Amino acid sequence: AKEQGRGRYAFFDPQINARNQRNMRIKVGLNDALERDELYLVYQPKVLSGGAVCGYEALMRWHSHELGLVSPAEFIPIAEASQALESMTVWLLHQVGRDLQKKPLKGLQVAINLSPRQFQSGSWVDALREVLEEYHLGPEQFCIEVTESALVESFNTTVAQLSEVQALGVEVAIDDFGTGYSSLEYLKRLPIDYLKIDRSFVRDIGTDADDRIIVQTIILLAHSLGLKVVAEGVETAEQAEFLGQQACDELQGYLFAPPRRLENLGDTAVKRQ
Ligand code: C2E
Ligand code: CA
Ligand code: CA
Ligand code: CA
Repeated sequence: AKEQGRGRYAFFDPQINARNQRNMRIKVGLNDALERDELYLVYQPKVLSGGAVCGYEALMRWHSHELGLVSPAEFIPIAEASQALESMTVWLLHQVGRDLQKKPLKGLQVAINLSPRQFQSGSWVDALREVLEEYHLGPEQFCIEVTESALVESFNTTVAQLSEVQALGVEVAIDDFGTGYSSLEYLKRLPIDYLKIDRSFVRDIGTDADDRIIVQTIILLAHSLGLKVVAEGVETAEQAEFLGQQACDELQGYLFAPPRRLENLGDTAVKRQ
């Protein structure tokens, strides 16, 4: 059976081949996505439990002339592996700067996502400083979202970079909290302001008692460490109600608003609870 199993891989697998080809086209397409002006940003609000917007998350979108709209879940890992993400992030920071100049969003904070690999070079720190200066923005207008895996992959440099921007007044959030490896021991020593509860725990709040306990525990843990908590992927009124009861500080999800282009962000976008 082993022989057979091994032999199978030698044969042409049309599915794997199609995937490789698509990945290759994405990789090549990303090379000139910036020059072709194919990237744009969408903003998803974060709301307080009463429904008032308290901040936004900027999410990258790529509309390729060849492949159409490609999901960031697909292109970000490829961009990360090919170094293209470095210049895409510089573009993103400047685009947020331009956007905030055009539409100040009442001075509310915009969170941006960084991938683990970006903490190897750390070039985003200078880009962020430059943007703050160039567009006359306060550091409190920015929040950096980083997953636990960045801390696992290169703990010291990640902590150093996060401490540097936090000292400026930029906030830091741990994204997808609960899905990675997090040592509670170093959680208290990290330069962070927020924990962002992963959507997978929020999704089953209504049906899974374990997930309710996990969510409750994360909120208690965060608060006892002096951190704020955001829940992502809130889709139902029941989820929002439970999270409100648990004193979750901020909520984000389709229940309130999907990510939208800057022009389409209005005060009416948010549904009152
Ligand atoms: P993420 O940072 O965890 O972002 C949340 C994702 O959940 C976004 O998907 C958002 O559109 C989606 N979402 C928001 N509310 C709901 C909801 O109620 N239900 C459901 N099912 N989904 C919801 P998106 O924009 O497709 O981004 C996917 C991932 O791609 C992000 O996950 C993030 O890891 C990455 N990403 C997106 N933009 C950037 C970027 O500019 N830089 C980096 N490094 N990564 C990015
Ligand atoms: Ca995020
Ligand atoms: Ca997240
Ligand atoms: Ca997520």
